[in-house]
Amino acid sequence: MQRPVRTVLVINSGSSSMKFSLVQPDAGVEVADGIVERIGERESRAEVQFDGREVERRAPVGDHDAALRLAFELLDEAGGKLDDLGIVAVGHRLVHGGRDLYRPTIIDDAVVAKARELAPLAPLHNPPAVLGVEVARKMLPDLPHIAVFDTAFFHDLPAAAATYAIDRDLAEQWRIRRYGFHGTSHQYISEQAAEFLDRPLDQLNQIVLHLGNGASASAIAGGRPVDTSMGLTPMEGLVMGTRSGDIDPGIVFYLARTAKLPVEEIESMLNRRSGVYGLGGDNDFRELHRMIAAGAEPEASQAQLAYDVYIHRLRKYIGAYLAVLGDTHVITFTAGVGENDAKVRRDALTGLAPLGVELDEHLNESPSRGARVISAENSPTTVLVIPTDEELAIARACVAVLARD
Ligand code: ADP
Repeated sequence: MQRPVRTVLVINSGSSSMKFSLVQPDAGVEVADGIVERIGERESRAEVQFDGREVERRAPVGDHDAALRLAFELLDEAGGKLDDLGIVAVGHRLVHGGRDLYRPTIIDDAVVAKARELAPLAPLHNPPAVLGVEVARKMLPDLPHIAVFDTAFFHDLPAAAATYAIDRDLAEQWRIRRYGFHGTSHQYISEQAAEFLDRPLDQLNQIVLHLGNGASASAIAGGRPVDTSMGLTPMEGLVMGTRSGDIDPGIVFYLARTAKLPVEEIESMLNRRSGVYGLGGDNDFRELHRMIAAGAEPEASQAQLAYDVYIHRLRKYIGAYLAVLGDTHVITFTAGVGENDAKVRRDALTGLAPLGVELDEHLNESPSRGARVISAENSPTTVLVIPTDEELAIARACVAVLARD
């Protein structure tokens, strides 16, 4: 007898946007996706595509409850009837699981309460995600709702990589450690890389570079993460779209004490007005390249400096992880910048041939969208581009939970 098609509704809820996808994890197919943006603003925008049909609406959407309702309404308009899609679970992306929540978990009131408690650890991410969980549970009360945590993959990071060299007792009391984020993507990409190369995962040392608006790097030995660039919060590490990545913590005290900036203002500056946006005026790499090429000053020089700082930090992390792993078999680029920006990939790896990493310029420039090799044939380290698919990874985690429980 043929098994019925199983579909998972994946929800990724941010402070002013809600994204959803309908994914068939067995076939690895996404049948629908949608986004409601600018929730709570004067005019929100919603867009849903189902089976090749696209529906768009601009209307005021006051809150997350209204956003999800509108998303389902548009899905219906596009021909996707929720009741007929064989939805077996709702998967929620939760950024921070703290010390105790890491396995994909069926959500009950206790899990919601715990996730809410973790808000101080991820103030930008956890509260809106919990809101998404709450409205979806109310709207779809008969389905299992499952939380998949961004921190999960890095839960067992070796102590040497997970521990900050700060007062031990204080760190213990406040659960300060390096948690790591984008774990769903790092795990998915490392598994895809092994599959693509037809090599056993447990025999590969890999560096994964997830370069989207948020950006992080990881070093993975035999399928297990041994280091990652994000820490207690998703602010540490690489330079990002609007986040600073690594800075001297002294900057925070200096701004608080001398510039008399409130801590919320400093946090907001480091999260929303830093990174390539803070230096170059835009967080989109296409726009940075355009400004540099246009040559109008001071924008061109500012964009160039933003780009140079971004590349410099990325190269430092690649170098660090080559040393952490000793013998690196694979480096994989993924997410918006990693998948699309050949110049970033080239500049990140230029001159690394003595370290065993050699790009093939021609392959790197190829406009292909799928998983591909971009290193030179004789490069000891294989360099790949693999599109990430966090929704599929979340959907797969959900059906694994259903099989487990
Ligand atoms: P997130 O999921 O973190 O919001 P994405 O992985 O979607 O981010 O990446 C978004 C970023 O990818 C954009 O801000 C932009 O900088 C970059 N990007 C997308 N398409 C391209 C492209 N064709 N060329 C260069 N950069 C791109």
